[in-house]
Amino acid sequence: MIPYGRQDVTSADIDAAVAVLRSDWLTQGPAVPKFEAAIAAYCGSPHAVAANSATSALHLACLALGLGPGDRLWTSPITFVASANCALYCGATVEFVDVDGETANISVPELERNLHAARRDGTLPKIVIPVHFAGEPCDMERIGALAQEFGFHVIEDAAHAIGARYRDEPVGNCKYSDITVFSFHPVKIITTGEGGAAVCRDVALAERMALLRSHGITRNPSQMNAPAEGPWYYEQFALGFNYRMNDIQAELGTSQLSRIESSVERRHYLAARYDSLLADLPVEPLRRDQRNRSALHLYPIRLRLEQLSRDRLEVVTTMRERGIGVNVHYIPVHTQPYFRTKGFAGAAFPAAERYYERTVSLPLFPGLDDAAQNQVISVLREVLAA
Ligand SMILES: *Cc1c(COP(=O)(O)O)cnc(C)c1O
Repeated sequence: MIPYGRQDVTSADIDAAVAVLRSDWLTQGPAVPKFEAAIAAYCGSPHAVAANSATSALHLACLALGLGPGDRLWTSPITFVASANCALYCGATVEFVDVDGETANISVPELERNLHAARRDGTLPKIVIPVHFAGEPCDMERIGALAQEFGFHVIEDAAHAIGARYRDEPVGNCKYSDITVFSFHPVKIITTGEGGAAVCRDVALAERMALLRSHGITRNPSQMNAPAEGPWYYEQFALGFNYRMNDIQAELGTSQLSRIESSVERRHYLAARYDSLLADLPVEPLRRDQRNRSALHLYPIRLRLEQLSRDRLEVVTTMRERGIGVNVHYIPVHTQPYFRTKGFAGAAFPAAERYYERTVSLPLFPGLDDAAQNQVISVLREVLAA
């Protein structure tokens, strides 16, 4: 089966991870700050806090921005559940803003309409999480302007988008946001097995996230209330977690990051081939803004169902039977059973639902070769013609 996504691990990556296994530090050693410095430098933010997943990093980001009971967090329904769950971990409420059907990113006009209504009702969000879906950056300049006008914080969910550029600047420079979060799950752009990071410009936010990542404990004398009682001494200030990334993961991440440019270029090469080889079929790729560079985590197509005799389920099952591991990103979060019990049972996000009904993600990953991609295209062609 050709999967929809797959990690790209080289022998240099393996050597890097093995070197850590032979070293003195498997965790809390030098590899994590080294990886954090590399991530920060790559995306142009002064601070990076690595974590054991993007889900943890989103939770840390929400806590550092003070999200708590009584607060609201807004995100888009076409995302992985983690973008919404971080609000609930903090005891806050999640609300959704419909997507732009051409990109599956949060609809900025819809966001603006909802913000005006929320200001009238006194129900403004504390945090908005735009998700750079499939690696295509959201319209951050406009979202940043709305954040100023309406007084909310912005966390960019860039789980798909390390390596992307918004206009001419790297996603993660936090020019229009407080914090940007990346995922290093194996299907994402670079991997640490499991892992994530939060980057930001504000040192106080970075320190808060680092403290909560490790039990709310500090060993730094300058942060302590009392003089150290001895070399074993530490103080706990807050109720934190163990959300740490280990050194094996971090060194793998540093090695992966050193190849990110060629790996995103490879994704662009494959996406451009899909664009041209699918042009005569009743499918539409997502719109990519030529002023940006998508990281191209995914290559979703939208089926023109009105021109087809098969529905999305038949297309997906037939392609899988024929060895093409297509997938669907994402089931709208508000339709999940858990969210239905949270008051979303009757909720309507028409653009998200319409998108979901006809989307299929085709295989896209750096190790996909031309022959395998041709196979994907010829199977898709036959399935759509049937
Ligand atoms: C993968 C993903 C996450 C969660 O990442 P993990 O590292 O697996 O916790 C969050 N948001 C989006 C949009 C994702 O795709």
